[in-house]
Amino acid sequence: MYRKTHQTIQEWYQQSGRLDLPWRNTDEAYYIYLSEVMLQQTQVKTVLERYYIPFIERFPSLKSLGEAPLDDVLKMWEGLGYYNRAKNLHKTATLVDELPSDIEELIKLPGIGKNTAHAVAAFAFHQPVPIMEANVKRILCRLHQLIKPTEKRLWEIAYDLVDKVNPFDYNQAMMDIGATICLPRNPKCEICPLSDICKGKEEPERYPEKKKRMVPTREQNILIRIYEDKLSLTQREGKFLHGLWGFESVKIPECASEYLGEVTHVYTHFKLNCKVYLYYEHTPEHSDYFSVDEIQKLAISKVDEKIVKLFLATM
Ligand code: SF4
Repeated sequence: MYRKTHQTIQEWYQQSGRLDLPWRNTDEAYYIYLSEVMLQQTQVKTVLERYYIPFIERFPSLKSLGEAPLDDVLKMWEGLGYYNRAKNLHKTATLVDELPSDIEELIKLPGIGKNTAHAVAAFAFHQPVPIMEANVKRILCRLHQLIKPTEKRLWEIAYDLVDKVNPFDYNQAMMDIGATICLPRNPKCEICPLSDICKGKEEPERYPEKKKRMVPTREQNILIRIYEDKLSLTQREGKFLHGLWGFESVKIPECASEYLGEVTHVYTHFKLNCKVYLYYEHTPEHSDYFSVDEIQKLAISKVDEKIVKLFLATM
């Protein structure tokens, strides 16, 4: 039914697609899986410039990743955020040496949802299945004039449209079209290879409905405890930033503490404002103290990095 469209997409991809991305030039399922996980919440440019290659150099196989301590994996992930991705990646690597090709089996592994399973199946194992990331969703909504579609409907449309002969190029092309042509604002319909079948091209920005997002602000008091020129850090527990080292958050700072300043960091779902205090201890009250040089080697979050910078700037 879509033979002509598939041909147009294929030609467009060969001429204008981002063919040189390293994860598009490998059959190694682990590398493709890694790229999918990194790209879930991070832009291609960042992954490409700073994370993908160093991570593979440090952990060249799923087996080597599984054998490495989680702390090492978190250190390599430092700055990418959403650390649960790294923990799930590591957990998967401890469970299997090779990724399965079957979507249902992939979904059973930690952190692999329906979207990632489809991407691994399509890109690593060349299965005739569609992928469903944010750019692709937007295209599908516009093709069918969908304002508020259900996930089920989107998957039906995606399965209907996928090029079963050449799913790899088709899916990569759909991502590229979404990233470079069918943009959220001012899509370039006049040069779009999907223009012939697009029902929404007269008013593309109507589809899909835009979600209004209010980002709440959280306030925290951070206490840097110093004992003999070393700073106290603890390894975080709980869901947020789990496993990373960080400074202590307190309800009320110690009376004798000194106010250093404020640090702000914006996460996807909230903004964090930290008032930072310094407290000199006469006896060590915690178990782990590190010099600034030692802290640089720990896996810490962006906000803790900013706290270290503030500390250094005020010393
Ligand atoms: S024709 Fe326009 S709205 Fe339709 S898919 Fe292409 S860029 Fe998007």
